[in-house]
Amino acid sequence: MNDFTLISATLPNGSVANIVVSNGFIAHIGAEVRGEQIDAQGLVALPGFVDLHTHLREPGFEQSETILTGTRAAALGGYTAVHAMANTHPVADTAGVVEQVKTLGDEAGYVQVQPIGAVTVGLEGKQLAELGAMAQSKAQVRVFSDDGKCVSDPVLMRRALAYVKSFGGVIAQHAQEPRLTENSQMHEGAVSSELGLAGWPAVAEESIIARDVLLAEAVGSRIHICHLSTAGSVEIVRWAKQRGINVTAEVTPHHLLLTDELARGYDPVFKVNPPLRTAADVMALREALVDGTIDIVATDHAPHPTESKDCEWAAAAFGMLGLETAASIAQDVLIESGASNWQRFADVMSTVPASISGIEGQGQPLEVGSAANIALIDPSAKRTIQDGGASKSDNQPYRGMTLPGAVIHTIFRGVFTVRDSKLSR
Ligand SMILES: [Zn+2]
Repeated sequence: MNDFTLISATLPNGSVANIVVSNGFIAHIGAEVRGEQIDAQGLVALPGFVDLHTHLREPGFEQSETILTGTRAAALGGYTAVHAMANTHPVADTAGVVEQVKTLGDEAGYVQVQPIGAVTVGLEGKQLAELGAMAQSKAQVRVFSDDGKCVSDPVLMRRALAYVKSFGGVIAQHAQEPRLTENSQMHEGAVSSELGLAGWPAVAEESIIARDVLLAEAVGSRIHICHLSTAGSVEIVRWAKQRGINVTAEVTPHHLLLTDELARGYDPVFKVNPPLRTAADVMALREALVDGTIDIVATDHAPHPTESKDCEWAAAAFGMLGLETAASIAQDVLIESGASNWQRFADVMSTVPASISGIEGQGQPLEVGSAANIALIDPSAKRTIQDGGASKSDNQPYRGMTLPGAVIHTIFRGVFTVRDSKLSR
């Protein structure tokens, strides 16, 4: 492993320094130069991004994405770790499946792949999965989620919260009351009425979040809420945090930027779960990411093959790509707006998601002794998004849009996975 030095990189606190990488670790930050010199002037160096919510689709849905293609997209997006959701086939509800996912991630070698285990057997919401066996497996699962489905049974949810508490695990809830969202197609509001598409009420999300923060409080466990999408959800999480409940929350890039108005073209690329909401909801989510009510940005990268999206709205699958564009949208919300700074950016994209999951060697501040997991971005770049990038799928909602910033280099455990915005192998 060769030593190298990133010359004149801008650190999250705004200072400029050389970063010396040696044997996979940060060996020095300051004036020293060692090994190959890489010009990083004008680039912001950040701890490699950590996604708490990625659908890699393997095993079972390799026509949408594989662990190799998904992690290549992740590296291009500045990520050095992703958490793979459990809604694969077979479902990641046993030690065997989570170990398989981890092994495939290690073999691909682009980012650290940390499997998420299912909360219930087969995501069926009837019986708890083998949470303890997954936690004790080689995959060392700490985050459990039935994502794609809600753990709607309060008895099961309470039991799951109590169980993971014993080993420091966390339940990541996809908050969607199933009875309130039967056949729902898009956000319930003025646009859904006009278009004649079945509505997805905000209260279907908010009622589950309210219930589950109270369950977490009663059990004395922590809980993580996936993809907040409404202003009301923000209010509930804000209230829960003020009350001292141990809750963390994520927001996706698309819910920070896109609204239900996009459904007017009936293009299923904008069909997603939870649905795109109103401009007022987007504003509330952006403010909450700035003020800390929302803890992290998580992509919910959800690749789907053309045949699942190139059809009428009601028949199309829910979900959109996100790994290669997330940093640009976080930059838009935190930096371009003038509302926050790169330190907060590092927190929401790396440090805090890593601490929620407890993943080792990730999300560490750029300091001597930290693992060399580093993303370097050019904040002055502008990119017009053309296609689905490295993903095997093409459900790209930002096509034709110009977004700020570009990931120039990604360094994973001291090795370039992306160099000059291209995969290094
Ligand atoms: Zn979800």
